[in-house]
Amino acid sequence: MIELALAGQIAWVVMVMAWYILRYPFDRRAKRLNVADNRKALGERVRMTISLTGLGIVPAIHVATGWPVFADRVQHPIVFALGVLAAIAALVMFRLTHKALGAMWSVSLELKQEHRLVTSGVYRHLRHPMYTAFWLMALAQALLLSNWVAGLAGLVGFGTLYVLRVGEEERMMEEAFGEEYRLYSARTKRIIPFVY
Ligand code: SAH
Repeated sequence: MIELALAGQIAWVVMVMAWYILRYPFDRRAKRLNVADNRKALGERVRMTISLTGLGIVPAIHVATGWPVFADRVQHPIVFALGVLAAIAALVMFRLTHKALGAMWSVSLELKQEHRLVTSGVYRHLRHPMYTAFWLMALAQALLLSNWVAGLAGLVGFGTLYVLRVGEEERMMEEAFGEEYRLYSARTKRIIPFVY
């Protein structure tokens, strides 16, 4: 079903563009604050590159060229529809996390000079709702792109970033906020409400 394959690719492009537009004003605002602690070690750069490759570069090449053709799969309307729902959920979640984090947000691990611990909005029940949004985005990619390599690249790429980063981020936050962060951690889950 060529039409569904194409519709999935279009939906993926729209999702990525919408994500970029959503993030843009927050990116500008966050960059105006001075940074107190920046963990741009080699490890952070490597995992960011792996994530960008899986969520952006591999699927973009697939959409532009059709590569790798051998990995094409048949698309099913229900899988496509679930992909659209996952994309919408990811974008809503991104919007909510950016709204709550405001200028405390950063692409990589860093603390601003007057960093506050955000515990309201979507951060009330989850400590990493933006990573929830990225997992949803990677899931949407897997469902929308009817190609095993381009589709699953996002889950592999972001999954790698997540696994390698979340522990370090929590240690950084605990160093900065001490007991306040320990108490916050005790009453919240990481990415799935009430579960994990
Ligand atoms: N892990 C979070 C935030 C990702 S953005 C999420 O998934 O929603 C990464 C930056 O956000 C980190 O450098 C850290 O400084 C900041 N950060 C993470 N959690 C925060 C919180 N609860 N309050 C304030 N800043 C936070």
